[in-house]
Amino acid sequence: MKKMLKLALIAAAAATAFGASAQEFPAKDKTVTIVVPFAAGGPTDRVARDLAEALRKPLGVSVVVDNTAGAGSSIGAARVARATPDGYTLLLNHIGMSTMPALYRKLSFSVPNDFEYLGMVNDVPMTLIARPTMPANNMKELTTWIGQNKGKINLGNAGLGAASHLCGLMFQDAMKVEMTTVPYKGTAPAITDLIGGQIDLLCDQTTNTTPQIEGKKVKAYAVTTSQRLTTPALKDLPTLAESGLKDFNVSIWHGLYAPKGTPAAVVTKINDALKVALKDADFIKKQEGLGAVVITDKRIEPAEHKKFVAAEIEKWGAVIKAAGTFAD
Ligand code: ASP
Repeated sequence: MKKMLKLALIAAAAATAFGASAQEFPAKDKTVTIVVPFAAGGPTDRVARDLAEALRKPLGVSVVVDNTAGAGSSIGAARVARATPDGYTLLLNHIGMSTMPALYRKLSFSVPNDFEYLGMVNDVPMTLIARPTMPANNMKELTTWIGQNKGKINLGNAGLGAASHLCGLMFQDAMKVEMTTVPYKGTAPAITDLIGGQIDLLCDQTTNTTPQIEGKKVKAYAVTTSQRLTTPALKDLPTLAESGLKDFNVSIWHGLYAPKGTPAAVVTKINDALKVALKDADFIKKQEGLGAVVITDKRIEPAEHKKFVAAEIEKWGAVIKAAGTFAD
């Protein structure tokens, strides 16, 4: 009897401590870490660093970014799925959350079941770019060059599950040409190699490619969305669809996640802070300057974010199954 009473007291104390910590979130002496599952200096990293800055004020604590790169974002996502569910370790990831379940035969986490969804951040178009020494100057010439160089073309990506992998898969399929894919830990190192001429082509988010296109460090051919973009540096690029690749349309999105089991009160506090951050004029300006569109629709709500990702898992799962690409 005495033992049972002791156990009940311990349980009650633990519940109070946990409840109190949820109420106090974020504690003034703590830091919120946003895990980026790709290399530093790339497009996901760029979004996370701008977001961390915009979240500092509404959360009232320091927010830092930590890169856990590799395997198309699955290593960083697994780290967050296993983290303590207290709101201090978050994940910022992109469309990879919806392609990984179909691409990996063995994934150590479940995208629908092992995360709390905190709201979406932005939509980001992609661009098809090439090394600066590429002889082709437009999509028509690039199509000819690809036809003439079958078997010799290197296409960079950020690993299986990355946006660049998905876009590259769709591009090869639309061109009916198989290319040698070169995986990196993110598209920051991939674009460095593209500029150096070690790889030929890359499909990457405008959040990474816009400054390089503006500085004429790479050749740019087209955007992957169904509409042309309005960002000054990108507005003259045609869409891939209007360049002959019928129905080509891929747009990347980013969302914020916490480990499953994060208290509801903490989820609400982070979502409230995210809503403030997405209205931050400086954040919006930076994102728009890089071709990204900050979320203003209902996908800012955790339940809608989860619904959207579930629909994307179905959509891209079918595309990946048809392509027959898998990893263990
Ligand atoms: N843009 C990369 C991708 O292909 C990821 C990154 O480096 O942020 O998914």
